[in-house]
Amino acid sequence: MILNGTAVENNTTLRAQYCVIGSGMGGASVASSLAKAGKDVLLVEAGGSERSSSPPVSAESTGRPFGIPLTRCIELGGTSNAWHGNSNPLDEQDFAPRPWLDVDGWPLTRQDLDPFYEKAALLLGNDSCSGLKPSLLPPAVHRSIGRIDFNPSILHPKFLEYRKPPHRWKNTLLELAHNGRLRCLLGTCALELLPDEHGSRVVRLKAGAPGRTFFLEAETFIVAAGALETPRLLLNSRSRHPGGIGNQHDQVGRCLMDHPTGPFSMLRFRRILRATAYSDHALPGGERYVRAALALQPELQESLQTSNHYFMIRPCIGSRHVRGDLRLSFLAARSIRDINVRQVAGILSSPNLLYRILIARLGVPAFYRYGELFFMAEQLPNPKSRITLSPERKDAFGYPVASIHWNPTSADFRSLESFVNTAFTTGLSSRHHRMAHQGTIEEWIDSFTSAAHHLGTARMAATSTHGVVNPSLQVFGVNNLYLCDASVFPTAGSANPSLTITALGIRLAQHLLRDQGIQKSSVPSQLLQNSSISERSIPVSLNGAGPN
Ligand SMILES: Cc1cc2nc3c(=O)[nH]c(=O)nc-3n(C[C@H](O)[C@H](O)[C@H](O)COP(=O)(O)OP(=O)(O)OC[C@H]3O[C@@H](n4cnc5c(N)ncnc54)[C@H](O)[C@@H]3O)c2cc1C
Repeated sequence: MILNGTAVENNTTLRAQYCVIGSGMGGASVASSLAKAGKDVLLVEAGGSERSSSPPVSAESTGRPFGIPLTRCIELGGTSNAWHGNSNPLDEQDFAPRPWLDVDGWPLTRQDLDPFYEKAALLLGNDSCSGLKPSLLPPAVHRSIGRIDFNPSILHPKFLEYRKPPHRWKNTLLELAHNGRLRCLLGTCALELLPDEHGSRVVRLKAGAPGRTFFLEAETFIVAAGALETPRLLLNSRSRHPGGIGNQHDQVGRCLMDHPTGPFSMLRFRRILRATAYSDHALPGGERYVRAALALQPELQESLQTSNHYFMIRPCIGSRHVRGDLRLSFLAARSIRDINVRQVAGILSSPNLLYRILIARLGVPAFYRYGELFFMAEQLPNPKSRITLSPERKDAFGYPVASIHWNPTSADFRSLESFVNTAFTTGLSSRHHRMAHQGTIEEWIDSFTSAAHHLGTARMAATSTHGVVNPSLQVFGVNNLYLCDASVFPTAGSANPSLTITALGIRLAQHLLRDQGIQKSSVPSQLLQNSSISERSIPVSLNGAGPN
């Protein structure tokens, strides 16, 4: 069933067993898993079924520009409407403590997540994930890797897999809703979580749609509004906790991370190369592709004091890099309609961008005359890079909007520079190429952009002094409140985040189903039937709401 918030009467209450807030990568994976298990799920989404030019959620930025609104989508399916389908697991060392960087790591290991990565890969349409099982890659990929010389004791190839077209959660959610297995409440902004008198259990969510506010009651609440809006909702929930719910140790909103991204240098090859593994190698079946990147061998990261960065080698026909602003707008362009006159002029004046569009969109074969070294840096957790509540701007319901202060630091730049120096001096052999342009860290600092990976701000940790949720994604101190989106990442790691977000969503659903199974057998069924929110699926009191 699909409903719109404008059909719900002012001040009424809707009920469900599970209330999931946000329908993006994290919210959709947990909501669909619960709905498929036959649970009563109400999915609350601020956006509509199509994107809008004036979305109901906005934010202000006070730090380095963060690419909003280009880098997130406020609509059913969230940012999965724009993502490019790169599905890669985090590396084993991403989970571990890294004392040389003063980083605690995850309260989980890669082995803990592996079974969920496999399920997530299937759900996102990658039947064998290259990052999980590189040995399954065809021999042609491994042969092609060797066409660019690198020193394997310094660098190792990292296989990034993606699918064309990418999985769009919107389609899955609409199908579940049309089959009566999921209720989607669109055009409805979550405004404030209202706990009981002890503050240890959320009783209601206050929500708003144009011209009205109303309430949602549920046994379990799962917030999945993304790493910018999830902390905002927690901070705006101050009825029992003056600093915001889950914020007893001032952790909510802290450590906003991304993968600062951009070109560093340009290689010129002595003769034109074809090396499909570094551009887009089609895998059997026709929809999956793999691209190799190069990363520092894990054992060298400690001695060189670096985090887990990597770089791709992008095919180019000229030596000039593509401008950062153009790059970001093309990253987010979903159709030809998103490209304006200024950008068309930008394409025409940038042969490398034009060439890459032809490769990506029209399947033109990729040849290397030049190779742009394009870095994805791992940003370290920095408590001062954060989301707070705007002191001035409020939304239509009178709640402060999120204030984004994205702040990569000199520690990030030092770590990247150390990797770059090693990669360029001893990592890449120069038999087949020379440096056409050697970048500097100053140029990088001027030009890097967000990779549209909004991470951290309500991090997972072993204790409440270090984070907001425990390893089961439950908010510390609040029994029935869980978070399930990229906000829970303790570190950015060295992979695009969606496979990990999806794996965490599947894992949370399994945890809730198992937990509920235990509760069900330990609570007398009579009690459940008499309680205001029972185990049974409860019909929604819509008070006039109709299908949209
Ligand atoms: C152009 C582009 C390309 C990308 N490509 C890749 C890629 O190839 N691989 C990869 O791994 N990642 C990629 N990403 C990043 C990836 O899409 C995001 O990291 C991921 O979608 C984040 O998931 P999430 O659940 O944290 O948030 P989102 O997917 O953003 O979901 C949050 C949801 O919450 C809703 N919401 C927000 N506030 C409220 C509120 N108050 N009430 C109700 N609902 C609310 C939003 O409307 C949205 O639906 C890309 C991103 C962009 C922009």
